[in-house]
Amino acid sequence: MTFRCVKCGAEVMSVVEGTVRCPKCGYRILYKTREPISKELKAV
Ligand SMILES: [Zn+2]
Repeated sequence: MTFRCVKCGAEVMSVVEGTVRCPKCGYRILYKTREPISKELKAV
């Protein structure tokens, strides 16, 4: 799961649960980013 820092916007790829912290600025509030969806659903 990928996280993004709320403060500096850095992507955090690997985090240990409970110790989510931005490696760049040390900010503790990250939000989950949805992985890009490669599939397209076609409405029939
Ligand atoms: Zn940050």
